[in-house]
Amino acid sequence: MLKQGAAWGLQNVLPYRFIGRNEAEMRVLLIVLALLAGAFLPQTQSVPIPERLFPETGWRVRGRLLEYWNSNGALPVFGLPLGPQRTATTPEGRFAAQQFERERLELHPEQNAPYDVQLGRLGDELLRRQGRDWRAEGRGETMAGRCRRFATTEREVCGPFLRYWQAVGLELGDAGVSERESTALFGLPLTAPRYETNSSGDRVLTQWFERARFELHPNNPAAFQVLLGRLGAELVGEQAPLPPLAIQPEPAAVLQGHTLRINAAVAGATAVRGSLGAAPLAFFADPDGGWRALGGVPVLTPVGTLPLRVEADLPDGRTAVQEVGVRVVDARYRAENINLPQAVRDMLERNKEAIAAERQLVNAIWPQATAERLWSGRFILPAEGRRSSSFGTNRSYNGGPVDSFHEGLDIANAVGTPVVAPARGRVMLAEPDLLVRGGAVILDHGQSVHTGFWHMSAVLVKPGELVEQGQIIGRIGAKGMVTGPHLHWDVRIGMVNVQPDEWLERSWP
Ligand SMILES: [Zn+2]
Repeated sequence: MLKQGAAWGLQNVLPYRFIGRNEAEMRVLLIVLALLAGAFLPQTQSVPIPERLFPETGWRVRGRLLEYWNSNGALPVFGLPLGPQRTATTPEGRFAAQQFERERLELHPEQNAPYDVQLGRLGDELLRRQGRDWRAEGRGETMAGRCRRFATTEREVCGPFLRYWQAVGLELGDAGVSERESTALFGLPLTAPRYETNSSGDRVLTQWFERARFELHPNNPAAFQVLLGRLGAELVGEQAPLPPLAIQPEPAAVLQGHTLRINAAVAGATAVRGSLGAAPLAFFADPDGGWRALGGVPVLTPVGTLPLRVEADLPDGRTAVQEVGVRVVDARYRAENINLPQAVRDMLERNKEAIAAERQLVNAIWPQATAERLWSGRFILPAEGRRSSSFGTNRSYNGGPVDSFHEGLDIANAVGTPVVAPARGRVMLAEPDLLVRGGAVILDHGQSVHTGFWHMSAVLVKPGELVEQGQIIGRIGAKGMVTGPHLHWDVRIGMVNVQPDEWLERSWP
């Protein structure tokens, strides 16, 4: 015991103070913890490949193609993705490729950057598909302004088309936009300019290039008089619109630290996932055909709007995305400052690695979401006794910033008082004497809901065991870093601690 007085635990003194002062420390710590915690740690050490989901079309672009798309003109030049990255057979061979509205990006990993990404010859392909032989075509319209002749294809590019051709190109490292950079993007002119009806039904002056089609819209503002045809879209055909994804948070306004249910409905989804603020949400298929997740608003979330984002995978490989706001309401938690005596601070400092390892051990369990919902109806209070500390109290230590809070509910009673399972669940952790948490049990109730029980004098269950509501799992104690005998009870949805009382008063979901 650390001192006399109110019973409280120290398990949440440590989250921000000792872990991750900087990235290098964090990495060393992670390695140490991985060794200590072994199989309990999720395998998330590798650097993720950058990826962007385009909600307009539902396709993702990743890795080298995303980098290339970003650094060579992005949306105005390439347009949106129209399909996944996949092996494509083109007149030039077989490549990993991805189709965009205006270009097809092909991966050639045997080449050095920037030539490891090449553009498909969509203009040439479309002309061939139309049965047009550009070599046999005549002179076409005359365009005012300066002209440049391209000997290879024996065509001229003039006026506004030439200005546009010269102003835009790939980034190959040349000063300004060089001729080779423009050629790399658009290719050489194939046809002479002439009036053609475009896919929107407008009759406009048009010139085809190997990889582009220029259209002149003289009534547009200067910057938009030359527009690029959507060759990729014409080549692959228009896609069916994404099915609507409806998401409904209940309630729509949530107190800090409280639970909410999120319903998602989308036709034919194969998987649904989401996030509330920074916290991932695990969705599960409902018997009625919809999808459902439980979530929690973290206690320290500022009052305002928290973004709720849901993604639904569709059978054709696309992903539908929807985002709404959840209103966060002030729960008016008390705030307290706890003065840790020097002896306690020294003890924490001496044990910081073991303390961090213990935190990682339990933190590796919370995010695990099993699909089966083991509980039904309301939870019951896990122990008789006096409520000695309520959930959510904002905490600062030794006059520092309010950067933590009381993560659970404390119930004080004599050592040996039974602790029961508040609901049916599977034992994920059963430790008789952890440094901070003492006798500790974590139950998995399914669908990302867990409960934790700390400071017990006896742990009466084993990992893997299925326990029923009301079954004794341990006894109240004063083990670990505490000031007196009590049970600390956590309810978590994913990593987020939520108000336990709300699980006693009503049934979720
Ligand atoms: Zn507590």
